[in-house]
Amino acid sequence: MFFGLQPWHIAVIIIVALIIFGPKRLPEIGRWVGRSITEFRKGSQEMTSALREGMNEARDREEQANTIGKPAPAQSIPADDKKFCTKCGSPNSQDALFCNKCGNSFQAQS
Ligand SMILES: [Zn+2]
Repeated sequence: MFFGLQPWHIAVIIIVALIIFGPKRLPEIGRWVGRSITEFRKGSQEMTSALREGMNEARDREEQANTIGKPAPAQSIPADDKKFCTKCGSPNSQDALFCNKCGNSFQAQS
């Protein structure tokens, strides 16, 4: 859990409360502890659902960004602007100095 509130924490709180307030006020303390736990649970539930919603929104945005207006880098070079490697035949951009696949130097050949 987020705050790591364990049952023994509650036990410690009750014992400390007993020492401070004495057994006479125990029912009052019990009510207060019960209310605190309820509030805590409600709070952490709200927090988890809010967190989950936020994550879903972020994922949706990411998916949209991946599908809309983002050309694949490999296919973005126009066909007439390509320089094909003489060694492996893989397409490279016209101003490439080396083949991006096999590392063949284009400068040495021309
Ligand atoms: Zn090559």
